[in-house]
This record gives sequence, structure tokens and C-alpha cells, in this order.
Amino acid sequence: MTAIAMPAPDKDVIARRQEILRALQAIVPGEGVIHDEREMRAYETDALTAYRQLPLIVVLPQTVDQVSRVLKYCYDNNVKVVPRGAGTSLSGGALPLADGVLLSMMKFNQVLDVDFANRAAVVQPGVTNLGITRAVEHEGFYYAPDPSSQIACSIGGNIAENSGGVHCLKYGLTTNNVLGLEMVLINGEVVRLGGKHLDSEGYDLLALMTGSEGLLGVVTEVTVRILQKPETARALLIGFPTSEDGGRCVADIIGAGIIPGGMEMMDKLAIHAAEDFVHAGYPRDVEALLIVELDGPEGEVDLLIGRVEEIARTNQASHLRVSESEEERMTFWAGRKAAFPAVGRISPDYLCMDGTIPRRELPRVLARMRELSVKHGLAVANVFHAGDGNLHPLILYDANKPGELDAAEAFGADILKLCVEVGGVLTGEHGVGIEKRDLMSEMFTEEDLKQQQRVKCAFDEKHLLNPGKVFPVLNSCAELGKMHVHKGKLPFPDIPRF
Ligand SMILES: Cc1cc2nc3c(=O)[nH]c(=O)nc-3n(C[C@H](O)[C@H](O)[C@H](O)COP(=O)(O)OP(=O)(O)OC[C@H]3O[C@@H](n4cnc5c(N)ncnc54)[C@H](O)[C@@H]3O)c2cc1C
Repeated sequence: MTAIAMPAPDKDVIARRQEILRALQAIVPGEGVIHDEREMRAYETDALTAYRQLPLIVVLPQTVDQVSRVLKYCYDNNVKVVPRGAGTSLSGGALPLADGVLLSMMKFNQVLDVDFANRAAVVQPGVTNLGITRAVEHEGFYYAPDPSSQIACSIGGNIAENSGGVHCLKYGLTTNNVLGLEMVLINGEVVRLGGKHLDSEGYDLLALMTGSEGLLGVVTEVTVRILQKPETARALLIGFPTSEDGGRCVADIIGAGIIPGGMEMMDKLAIHAAEDFVHAGYPRDVEALLIVELDGPEGEVDLLIGRVEEIARTNQASHLRVSESEEERMTFWAGRKAAFPAVGRISPDYLCMDGTIPRRELPRVLARMRELSVKHGLAVANVFHAGDGNLHPLILYDANKPGELDAAEAFGADILKLCVEVGGVLTGEHGVGIEKRDLMSEMFTEEDLKQQQRVKCAFDEKHLLNPGKVFPVLNSCAELGKMHVHKGKLPFPDIPRF
């Protein structure tokens, strides 16, 4: 089924499975090691479900010491390791390897410290995103980045993917809300970066770790910034006769210097699917729907609502409603938050893409996407973080129809190439993983990619942490150091290249 090639499994490692199992059981006793095929099935995929692979062994450590000893063992014995949080990655980042240990961090599920004076919370990486807000909301605080998967996804996974959500337009992505980390390197060394204070000493390794997709280290503790809830929040529901009008309205709102707490857009297919599913009161006779949320002191919110209404009318808005109560505001959002499962009800399968474009390009990109839909013979529903220019086209297909997965992947690749062509990037918040790995060369030159791999080598010179993800070609670290090739003989011939 997998169209994306993974590194060939190391037969020597697979032959040593029993010996590796015994060693890991000695480090993580009891139920912390899973090796039965039936039980390992739960880990064979993440939310990119078109791709599946049973791991060699699953390990669920509970202490930093156990993580450190597991990694050191794997390092000394050349065993690959795939870190995993809740397994909600949409880019295949947590896809296991047949010859690799799957390291689940979900037993690290404690909130360690809440420090309102420093506006910080210290949590273990398996705590869910929403779990952080739950731990601080009694004092009127919350954790701002809010991926739609926040009820399930772990903060460790959020760090690895630099996750975003509706409120990131105003409050920043994960990278802007993380203050400190503890992580374990592949050789077992425990490292601490940052803390409750602003900025850390030396190079900004914290920023490097955020978005590193499990390739540089395993996160074992996270310090995040917590914010006080805004005094008030109101939302506008704005419908447009064309997507282009909606796209222009988004650019004009930001251009006017207004930064909404959230600004999300849906196209007709997504509007109808969401309305049929949750009855949020969305208009059905519009081509695009914008939800704009403004938050802050009441007077400021009222003023900004008036200005956004004006901008919407200038852009031919055909439907305009402002929430008059907290309940109504939540109803506006209910449809958007349920949009993915709603689309899941109208199509047997869908591929959720993730690319980012300059906001001004929204009208052009939406128009081109319609042409691509005709070219590939598949429908597309658009649900996206319009304020950030972060698109989430959902390509509808049926995996049981021969050729449709291939067509959906080709359509997805065309959309991402289009994002790069108009000056955007391959991913906004879901990461590269395996999904966009082979498209990296659309955005980066060979030398760019080598440069990035040199950073990887500084942390993991044996390529044992999550190999096969992010980089389309696995250069050995020695090759990147420009080793001399004598008479065509490749140095380190045992290192996988694919
Ligand atoms: C319905 C749905 C909606 C979603 N909506 C959004 C959204 O709005 N915004 C968004 O950004 N994402 C969204 N996602 C994607 C996903 O939830 C995020 O990428 C999330 O951060 C993944 O967290 P996780 O705990 O599930 O990580 P996993 O899927 O388990 O792993 C993801 C990556 O993180 C690495 N990793 C996990 N834990 C650690 C650790 N402790 N140390 C080092 N590396 C680690 C893994 O190796 C892997 O590369 C959505 C997913 C679904 C299914």
C-alpha cells in the first residue's frame, strides 16, 4: 500500500529481536515493554492511516532514567528509535519502523508545577494539550496554542511538530509558547534548555528542538507559558458569494492592522458538511464562510467588530452575523471544530494537506485548486487557518477504488508545489514526516538539505532517531563531512540510502 519508500529494515537487528527484547525488559520492567503482535497493532499507524508498519518492539518508559537507558542501549547496539506521543500526527511522523523500537511517552502524564507568578507550567510530555489548560483554568489562565486535536494530542508531540491552531494568529505557535525543555539525546545524555525565564543562554536550541519531528532528541519535560484569559471574546460569521471575496477580506483585515484572536475560513463543501453534522446555523447559499474572533477588553472588541463589518461589506459579504452571547460564539465555532469529522461523513477517505501561503495569494491559490480538482477528478473541501495563510485542503477519495489513493497523493503534491510556487512553504503545522518528505526538494536545494542534515548529525550521527522521516535522502554524516570516495567505492556502505 505504501507509495513512500522507507529505509530497508536491517535484517541483523530483526534477527537480534529476542536479545533486544530481554535487554529492554531489564530496563523497563512489567508492562512497560510490548512485543505481542496483536498488542503492537495499536501502534502501527498514526493519523496518516494510509501508512502502517508494525514496530520491532514497543517500550513505554515511566522515568527519565529509563528513557536515558533505553536510548543508550539502542545507541550502543545500533537500534533505531521512533518517539511517539498520542499518535495523532497527520504527516506520518510517528510511523514505526520494522527494525526500530517505538518509544511511547504516554506514561509521562503528570503536571509537575503550576507557577502563576511566573506565568508558567511545567508538565511531562504525555500531558494532552487541553490538559494544560485544564490544570490552570481555575485561576483564569490557559495555554494558547490550540490544535483541533487538543483533547488527544500530547504536548511532546506539539513540540515535535511545532503545532498550531485557531488562536495562533494572535498568540503564536508552540515555538512562541515554550520556555524550557528537558530532553534525552540518543546516547542517553540528559539535556536541559531554557526554563521559566525569558530567553535562554547560548544558541537558541529551544527553537531548534521545536519542530524537529523526533529527529534530534526525546522530550521528557516541558515548561510552557500560560496566559490570562481575555476579558471578552466575540465572533463574526461572514459569508461571501465567492472564495476570492473571502480571501481578499482576510488580507484586508490584517492589512488594516487588526489581529483577530482567530480567523478561519471554510469553502462550500466544508460548510455544508459541517452544517449537516452539527447544525451551527451556517448559511448554505455562500461559497466561503469566514469566522473572525476578536478578543480583549470589551470596548476594544466592540470597536474592532465595527471595523471588520465595514471591511467585510467592502468585500461583498452576503451574510453577516455577530455573536450576541457566549453560547452563540461557541455555536459559530462548533461547526469549524467539527469540520474534519464532518467531511469524514461524506467521503470514505480523505487526505488532509497542510501548506502555507502569503495571505494575499489566497484568491489565486483557491482558484488554481479548483482547476486541480478537475484535473485529478477528485473533490476537495477547504478548511483553513485563513489569518496565517495556513491551508488544510481535504482531498476526498475512496481507498477501495483502485488508483484513487495515488490520484489523491498526486493532487496533494500539486497543491503543495503550488504553495511553494506562490512564495509559501510545504507545511504550516503538521510537519513533514513521511507525507511531504519527498517534496522537500521542491523547496530546498540539495545543499540546503545537506546543511540541515549536518545539524541532525550534530545530535545523532548514527541516524538512529526517527530515520526515514523529513529528509528525502539519508546521507551518512561522514558523507556530509565530504569524505573522499575512492574509485567509486562508497564509504560506509552499510548506512542506508533511499
Ligand atoms: C483530527 C485532527 C486534527 C488536528 N488538528 C491539528 C491542528 O489544528 N493543528 C496542528 O498543528 N495539528 C493538528 N493535528 C495534528 C496532530 O494532532 C499534531 O501534529 C500533534 O502535535 C501531534 O501530537 P501527538 O502527541 O499525537 O504526536 P505523535 O503523532 O505521537 O508524534 C508526532 C511527532 O512527534 C514526535 N514526538 C512525539 N512525542 C515526542 C517526544 N516526547 N519527544 C520527541 N519527539 C516526540 C514523533 O516522533 C512524531 O515525529 C490534528 C490531528 C488530527 C487527527
